[in-house]
Amino acid sequence: MQRDTYFVKRSFLQWLHNRSNPGLIVNICFLVVLIFSTLLTWREVVVLEGAYVSSQRNHLETVASALDRQLQFSVDKLLFFRKSMGEALQTPLGFDVLQMAVARFKTVRNTPSWQLIVDKDRTLPVNGVSDEFVSKTTLLNRDDEHISHEISAALEVGYLLRLASSSTQKEERAMYISRAGLWVATNTPVNDDEIISRYYHFVTRPWFTQQSGRANRARAVRWFFSSTTSTAPADAPTITASVPVYFNNYWYGVVALDFSVATMKRLLKDAVADHTEGEYQLYDTRLNLIASSEASASKINLFDDVERAQIASAIASDTEGGLRLGSRFVSWERLDHFNGVVLRVHTLDEGVRGDFGSISIVLALLWALFTAMLLISWLVIRRMVRNMYTLQNSLQWQAWHDPLTRLNNRGALFERAKQLAETCQQQSLPFSVIQIDLDHFKNINDLFGHQAGDKVLSHAAGLIATGLRTSDVAGRVGGEEFCVVLPGIALPEASAVAERIRSRIDSKEILVKKNTTIRISASFGVSCAHEKGNYNFEQLQSIADTRLYQAKQYGRNRVVWRDRDKE
Ligand code: GH3
Ligand code: MG
Ligand code: MG
Repeated sequence: MQRDTYFVKRSFLQWLHNRSNPGLIVNICFLVVLIFSTLLTWREVVVLEGAYVSSQRNHLETVASALDRQLQFSVDKLLFFRKSMGEALQTPLGFDVLQMAVARFKTVRNTPSWQLIVDKDRTLPVNGVSDEFVSKTTLLNRDDEHISHEISAALEVGYLLRLASSSTQKEERAMYISRAGLWVATNTPVNDDEIISRYYHFVTRPWFTQQSGRANRARAVRWFFSSTTSTAPADAPTITASVPVYFNNYWYGVVALDFSVATMKRLLKDAVADHTEGEYQLYDTRLNLIASSEASASKINLFDDVERAQIASAIASDTEGGLRLGSRFVSWERLDHFNGVVLRVHTLDEGVRGDFGSISIVLALLWALFTAMLLISWLVIRRMVRNMYTLQNSLQWQAWHDPLTRLNNRGALFERAKQLAETCQQQSLPFSVIQIDLDHFKNINDLFGHQAGDKVLSHAAGLIATGLRTSDVAGRVGGEEFCVVLPGIALPEASAVAERIRSRIDSKEILVKKNTTIRISASFGVSCAHEKGNYNFEQLQSIADTRLYQAKQYGRNRVVWRDRDKE
């Protein structure tokens, strides 16, 4: 296993070395740093967002539970009224005044409307309608068996209603509405004409009709919101909490508490207290806005139909949560003691001004700064690497080449020729060497100057190098001396190559000065490793040199590839 990793590591390093393009490595490194820094920032943003959402939820939860606590008080009161009504029905007080009231009822029950007043200052009057009115509606029922007890219980509870609702300003009205054509309510000064219309109004409200045994099987407290747009536009919008009154499984009626929108708004404001950032809104289950913590109506965050639908479906699927609507973040929580939901709306503006906003801005700025610095350093380093790369290449070239002729210099030629000789020896291939010396070159310098001589040198080098294979190597080994190495080429072919170069040099006219062209020639000595099986490059070059000398002796401008004295 360790061996494997060692080899993987080694081969990776090898791969890296082979393709060690420093520019590429620099690019990759910077890209990796950029990606990781961006990922890191992104991760922080996600964490921050989570913290923001939970802080929104915390604020909302505090407000919702404060509101719930306040509503709990009303719910408890409502349940207390129901319990009192139940108790009063079970064991009615034997007071004479109550019995007298019941006796009076019997005399007035057939009049269209009536009122039983026991003590105006202590208890509330019981208002009622005729037997005929009751008998017309199926939901209503005046049962002789229950009515006497119910009247005395209503008078008794009227005392409690008055007492309880005057002690607190939360509810606008506390009432008991009976199915038997009678009602008791606080804060309801009535004249005779209104008794019937009010009773009719009460028993047609959803908070009454939907408390029947079938509609509210749990017999629990339920909340209803009637907005002005409903059937009675004249009425101010009200929130009503109601609970049915049962005794011996007989549905007597409904105890209800009315809250005005202003009351709900005050409750919401009290609950919001010092959570001043963001707006809190109270909605009923159908998303009718009941109250907002925002004092001025123009500042209330309203939602369009699409947003309302989004909120509605979110609320339907979960009792609490949050969602982003454009630039606003909305979190909601359903209330335990109210059939509705509290919404917290946090706008982008508020978000930016808050703690999370400033942290996000700092984070974004830091990321931008880091990225900018990274980019700048990337550009600088890339340029440095490119310059170094160019410098390295040019130094390398200069170390291996002759700047005048652009051929290999002496050192480079020897190095490469030795390697090639070795390879040919291993593969038993021929290996030929051509030594070249320009004829009477000194004269050119003398006649036309050193610059013209240089021109001739580079021109001759060009003629020597053209037509060579890529595996052949040509170099300048002395002032006007050249050497060509031909791996895999035998002596006759090598001398043919030399001959071709010779005739090329011989046939070309070279412009050395304005209006002055000259012709030059060169002498060649060729040797081959196959002659004696000797692959030593220096010795092969020396043999070629000897033959070159012979070529000079025999009149120049020729190729010698055999030792003439042996002929
Ligand atoms: P031969 O036919 O016998 O070779 O005659 P030659 O004049 O070519 O012989 P020699 O070796 O005496 O002369 C070589 C001359 O090449 C001497 C030197 O001034 C000249 N030379 C050497 N290097 C350079 C160079 O880089 N530029 C120029 N212009 N001349 C050079
Ligand atoms: Mg010479
Ligand atoms: Mg010469």
